[in-house]
Amino acid sequence: MPSIPEITNALKIKGASNRCSRCNNTSFEVVGEQTVEVITTGSGLLQLSQKQDVHTVLVACSHCGNISIHALGILTKPTTSNWI
Ligand SMILES: [Zn+2]
Repeated sequence: MPSIPEITNALKIKGASNRCSRCNNTSFEVVGEQTVEVITTGSGLLQLSQKQDVHTVLVACSHCGNISIHALGILTKPTTSNWI
């Protein structure tokens, strides 16, 4: 688990610094972490499903408490690849 300053720095580097979508506030706090279990579906004839844990960090608006969730594996990756 990265430290709070490392997470804050990663959010700045990735440009995740827009105002709160609910109240337009500009300050946020890292309030916790969470593991989300997701199911990924396979492709091809077998269509196997696989469970996978995604480690996330919760960032809350310091005024209204609106929470955004960031996948740590992507947030802390040095570069971002395009999906398409
Ligand atoms: Zn807010």
